[in-house]
Order: sequence, then C-alpha cells, then structure tokens
Amino acid sequence: MTGADHGARLTRLRQSLTTSGLDAMLVSALPNIRYLTGFSGSNALVVVTPTECLLLTDFRYATQVKSEVAAAVRVIIESSSLWTRLWQELHASAGTKVLAFESAHVTHQDAAKFLDAASDGSRWLWRPAINLVEVLREVKDDSELVQIRHAVRIAEEALGATLPQVRVGMTEMAVAGILERELRLAGSEGFPFETIVAAGARAALPHARASGNRIERGDLLLVDFGAVQGGYCSDLTRTVVVGAPPTDRQLEIHTAVREANGSASALVRAGMRGRDADALARDYIHRLGFGEAFGHSLGHGIGLEVHEAPRLAKSAEAPLPAGSVVTIEPGIYVEGWGGVRIEDDVVLTSEGPEVLSTFDRTLLQVG
Ligand code: ZN
Ligand code: ZN
Repeated sequence: MTGADHGARLTRLRQSLTTSGLDAMLVSALPNIRYLTGFSGSNALVVVTPTECLLLTDFRYATQVKSEVAAAVRVIIESSSLWTRLWQELHASAGTKVLAFESAHVTHQDAAKFLDAASDGSRWLWRPAINLVEVLREVKDDSELVQIRHAVRIAEEALGATLPQVRVGMTEMAVAGILERELRLAGSEGFPFETIVAAGARAALPHARASGNRIERGDLLLVDFGAVQGGYCSDLTRTVVVGAPPTDRQLEIHTAVREANGSASALVRAGMRGRDADALARDYIHRLGFGEAFGHSLGHGIGLEVHEAPRLAKSAEAPLPAGSVVTIEPGIYVEGWGGVRIEDDVVLTSEGPEVLSTFDRTLLQVG
C-alpha cells in the first residue's frame, strides 16, 4: 500500500460536486479511478455519491481490488456488463438525481448508453463535466511526492547505467533497448511513454521515435524517457555528444538550453500563471536569437499520467498551484543539424521550487 489517503481525496471531490450543483459523479477515466480509490486495474467504473464510493470491476480483478482499495469503497465484481450493473445500482441509490460524467473520457458508444437511458424517462439528469478530478490531481499529497521522487531516482539510475554503454554505430533503437532494460533493473514498473532516442539531425524532431538510424561520431544524442513507481511517472531529458568532443556550435546551443532550463527551474513559482512560467525560458532563448527554434511549450504536470495539468505554455492562463509537480524542458531544434533539450522535474512548494532531478546537465561526451 502507498499510504495514500483516498478518503481525503473523495471528500475533496464531494466538496467540488456540491459547489457545482451535482449529486454524484460517474468516473470512468482509469487514472482518476486510481487516484480516488487506489485501484490500478484496466477495467472499472466508479460512482461517487455523497454517502458512498462504489467501484465496479470484473472477475479478473477480484483478488487485486481487495488489496488495493480502502474499506470505505464498496466493490462489486460483475462478470457480464459493468454498465448494466451500474444502472441496477443507481436505481437502488435514493437521492441521486444530477450525475456528472467525464465527457473527455467517455466514448460516444458508452455515453449513448446513459443518454439513451435518460431519454427513456429515467430519473437522472446527466451533466458533462471536465477536469473535476484532474484539478484535484494537480496538487500532490505527501504519499504522491514519495512515489514521484522514487520514479525520478529510478530514471536517473537507469540513465547513469546506460550512457557508458553507448557507442558510435549503435542504432537509436539499441540505445532505447539498453535504457529500457536498465529502467526495469532499477525497478521501473513500466515506461510512461515511448522512449525517445534521437541522434544527429533526427534530434531536431522533438518527439522522434527511436529508429534504426545509426549514431555517427560527433552526433548529439537526445534521450527523453521516464520511470514509473507506484503508478507515478518521472520524465527526464538529457542531450549528450557521442564519440568526440563537442563542437563550438554544439556547446553554444547546449549552453543556451542549459541556462534557460536552470533559470526557469530557479524562478518558477507556485501562483505564477502557466504562460509566465513558460516565458521564463522562452524570453531567454529568444534574446539569444533562437526564439523560433523553441517550438513547444516549457513543461507539463506529471503524476499518475506523464502529461497532466498544469501546463506551462504560452496559452496557459491558469496559475500553477502549490504542490504541483511540473517538468521544465526547454529545447532548441535546428532542422538538418540537430537539437538539444534538457528536462527536469520540479515540485512547486509554497516556499519555492525544488528540482527533483539532479542528473548532470553539462554536455557529457559518451562512447
Ligand atoms: Zn520528456
Ligand atoms: Zn515532458
């Protein structure tokens, strides 16, 4: 068990339901279900009413669910249709009239089931809701921070074990394979996203998949990856040079990104709007003349998902809440030449930022 206080999370959700004029909520997004109940399986529906939290799952999880969820969650194992069983349970629950559903996470096919039921004269009013649980997830509690710190350590240990194995002539996929093996050996439960390994000119593609492209002497090698611990993700990027000392151009661009990363990590604050945080790195890179070459946003929240709220982006008006964990990942990408990105994970405490990842940010020569 993680020591997570699911009861406190359910209480906060009920408060926001009340504020929004809702009696209950159907939760179908798996990360939200995990956050509220602890259940980590792949098939479940949850209903949160003022008085109870009901979780429906299937027979495959009959044993697992007992060990994961708190006693306060009423679990129903349903072998045929979770949706059919859900109607039966809802009919039995008095006082539930206005129900929210997660409109960003329900398929059209599933939504049709309850919207059709509503048009059949059912006594419920269904209301689409967005981000009711996601907003709660932005602010991490202590048990979540423990997991994220651990996920960062696993990622750093794996990278430290991988870089000495990198050689000129290896494919990007081979490097990704070594890194993913080291992640597993270091204790990662999985990979939060497809590992990015990009060498030479391909490093100019911010979301390059590892390919059969071979690393040439003197190539920049960009590695973006993460670890998972207790369901929580880390997300880290470093850029190194392979088989030769860096050129002046490589050093110049790497230094610009490192300084943008360092100053944004030091100056980012809870309470700042996401767009102002983004500007911390963007304005700096712009002043150096690389403005157009930083084409993505500065960062994103991490937690049960590797991309979650809040956002640090030009269009992000929302303030960054205290207790959120965000990435700081400026980059400079030059088509046909290559690219550099340096990404760290930062907790925004009310006292200021704490950078969780400490792996060497200088332009390391490997191989
Ligand atoms: Zn990343
Ligand atoms: Zn990221």
